[in-house]
Amino acid sequence: MESIQKVKDIIEKEGIENFYENYLEWLKEKDKEIKGFLFFTENTIKETLKRLKQLPKNLPLYGVPIAIKDNILVKGEKCTAGSKILENYIAVYDATVIKKIKAAGAVIIGKTNLDEFAMGSSTENSAFFPTLNPFEKNRVPGGSSGGSAAVVGAKLVPIALGSDTGGSIRQPACFCGVYGLKPTYGAVSRYGLIAMASSLDQIGPFANKLEDLILLFEIIKGKDPKDSTSLDFPKEKMTKTEIKTIGVPVEFFENLDDKIKNTILKKIQKTNLKIKEVSLKYVKYGIHCYYLIMPAEVSANLARYDGIRYGKRGGEELWEIYKITRKKYLGKEVKRRIILGTFVLSHGYYEAYYLRAQKLRKAIYEDFQKAFKEVDLLISPTSPTLPFKLAEKTTNPIEMYLSDIYTVPINLAGLPAVNVPVGFIDNLPVGLQIIGNLFDEYKIFTLAKILENIG
Ligand code: GLN
Repeated sequence: MESIQKVKDIIEKEGIENFYENYLEWLKEKDKEIKGFLFFTENTIKETLKRLKQLPKNLPLYGVPIAIKDNILVKGEKCTAGSKILENYIAVYDATVIKKIKAAGAVIIGKTNLDEFAMGSSTENSAFFPTLNPFEKNRVPGGSSGGSAAVVGAKLVPIALGSDTGGSIRQPACFCGVYGLKPTYGAVSRYGLIAMASSLDQIGPFANKLEDLILLFEIIKGKDPKDSTSLDFPKEKMTKTEIKTIGVPVEFFENLDDKIKNTILKKIQKTNLKIKEVSLKYVKYGIHCYYLIMPAEVSANLARYDGIRYGKRGGEELWEIYKITRKKYLGKEVKRRIILGTFVLSHGYYEAYYLRAQKLRKAIYEDFQKAFKEVDLLISPTSPTLPFKLAEKTTNPIEMYLSDIYTVPINLAGLPAVNVPVGFIDNLPVGLQIIGNLFDEYKIFTLAKILENIG
């Protein structure tokens, strides 16, 4: 099920009911090899197939199966966020993106595995099980949207949705050899996404084919009265999409593995576009800045999992309920970040850490703005390494955090960026990241199309 068109062709031939009978069985079997899905949304599938009978067949996603990261709410289905604390939680409403894809005729087929509350880069922080890389089963698919990336990469579904706070769409897309877009902050509604760090979170699409990625983005984008940070996509940005100069930030290629560097630079040289070196001075502090701002927001957002309002509960007395629930049902990495976040926000440290990180965030944003005065787009590697082995980084959180060295600055600056699969090294996929200025998604697509045509 590589592309939307392929699925549509089969449905045309076999009829939608027949297709889903066989497909679901096949999917369940195939998924056992990579464990991308946490569960299949059987009720939603049935309901949708019934509803589709009344809908026009020319809807853009009519009958197309889509996988959803399990931190996006689908009404009536479980939403675990990869955590024990929400293991039995049933969503009471549809996220705005879910409403939109349902209206476009998509069939939500299942919820995909993720690092607990989207915190991680390998899907090994899932409270349930790790997902495996479709190219080599002893390697990770990346994270935190590893399930969504793996099921697209294994061609079990043509498209999926994920969320990206510091790289969680782009890095797993890179590790699984697929396209993954982190849209401009505000381009897609976050209503119904379980919040990690609200000033950084964005929902975005995965696809094997660039045209499918663009189509899914067009369906989910736009202002939503239920998310006050969302914005209408500026119309003029959809037509002024020509590009002339590509910027190569020197800092993004320093200390980079030679093979990855050459694969990316060779590819970009083949475009015959003007290539210019640029410098992003503050970007090297991206990880530092992210690991202060993100945990601060995490500590506030996750306060709601207190054993009273959502999910599981331990203990009897009020104080005990807080203590036992959070101790028992939250994982190690989540606790680490809550503690770190509470610390950086606490009296006396707020100015020293949080406030300084906010200033650094502004400097990173301005760095990018300066670069975009000279070039149309920037390129970089998506990940500093090839997909790593399972358990290789689980005991060293700092090593794990460094997986996102090229992706977190983009979230800090609110910019859009895409992972483009550009080849293989030792049979493992390599990805190139294209970074645009605010709402320059369509310029990014222009370059991605050029790269696709080069092959
Ligand atoms: N891997 C990064 C982290 O652990 C990014 C996570 C994300 O984008 N949700 O925070």
